[in-house]
Amino acid sequence: MVQAGDVRKLFLQAVFSRGVLSENLAKVLWKKCIEAVKAADEDVEVSYSNDPEIWDEFIESINISLNDLDFEFKSIQDELDGKKLFAMVNRKDDELAQLATDYNGVEITYFKAVVEQIILARNESFSVSSLAALREVSAGKEKINLTKSQAEILLGSFVANSWLLRSKRGRYSLSPRSLLELLPYIKSTYTDDIIECTICHEIVTKGIACKRDNCKARMHYHCFETYRRRHPTCPACSLNWPQNVTDNGLLPVGELAIRDGDDGSRQTRGSPESDSDEEMEDEPSHTQTKSRQTQRSHTAKKTGKSRNVDSEEEPEDKDGTDEEAEDLPPPKQRNTRR
Ligand SMILES: [Zn+2]
Ligand SMILES: [Zn+2]
Repeated sequence: MVQAGDVRKLFLQAVFSRGVLSENLAKVLWKKCIEAVKAADEDVEVSYSNDPEIWDEFIESINISLNDLDFEFKSIQDELDGKKLFAMVNRKDDELAQLATDYNGVEITYFKAVVEQIILARNESFSVSSLAALREVSAGKEKINLTKSQAEILLGSFVANSWLLRSKRGRYSLSPRSLLELLPYIKSTYTDDIIECTICHEIVTKGIACKRDNCKARMHYHCFETYRRRHPTCPACSLNWPQNVTDNGLLPVGELAIRDGDDGSRQTRGSPESDSDEEMEDEPSHTQTKSRQTQRSHTAKKTGKSRNVDSEEEPEDKDGTDEEAEDLPPPKQRNTRR
């Protein structure tokens, strides 16, 4: 005999191994589950509704039923288009168990290495070139037992399975799926390296930064748009902000922030000695900014200045012009310490 709770069971089966799904698809699945239960017993008291409140209630009931299992049917807004996405997230999992169904240990080690380079990328670009991603096969302390061509195929597979995004310029970045499903891992591993949106407090890897030196305001594009409709100035420092993300006056977070040479050397965690001989003349103010900048002070020292000095340029124009080259010491090819 079927009952109303069977809608939940069917729905959970439908979404559990599906990865990330759009809100629209999630609603279609919900509707189909209701229809299936109704088909078995038309007297069961469940009905589909377009009312967003009823949908929210359903999601809430799903999450109550998952509570003891430490799972959550969680949503996130796509950093690029602001659309709502859902995924089943293991709240306790600070390892990458979610990947284990598709990938073996070596492959997961490689994935972690690429994720690390994405998160530690200079200048808040939160992205790596394919060259830099492939370099990870042999760049780390621990040699990863993959050939470059295997790694290349693997990168394609990470993209195909929505674990990574690959941009038109061929740069890899974190996907909504990773940001949802791997967030416990990312947060626990890179506590001081990730940045939060000033508005929604979720992690930002693509969006905008206030251009005032040391201002910590960072926002997703969609959060900026909502915020900017009502407020003309930065919420943290009150600097006048432009109307649109595409106007001058903001700094990019994400691959638009990449500068020539940023992929030239690897970033490693907790290794402030890597740059210690450089740019001691930098104003100390850069070290005041907390969390990410402190942890990444070697990066901030090197790039924080240039981010702010020549920030009049178009955000798109990040490919290293002569003008930039004058401002900036040439990216030094550091010895990777291995
Ligand atoms: Zn946000
Ligand atoms: Zn500001």
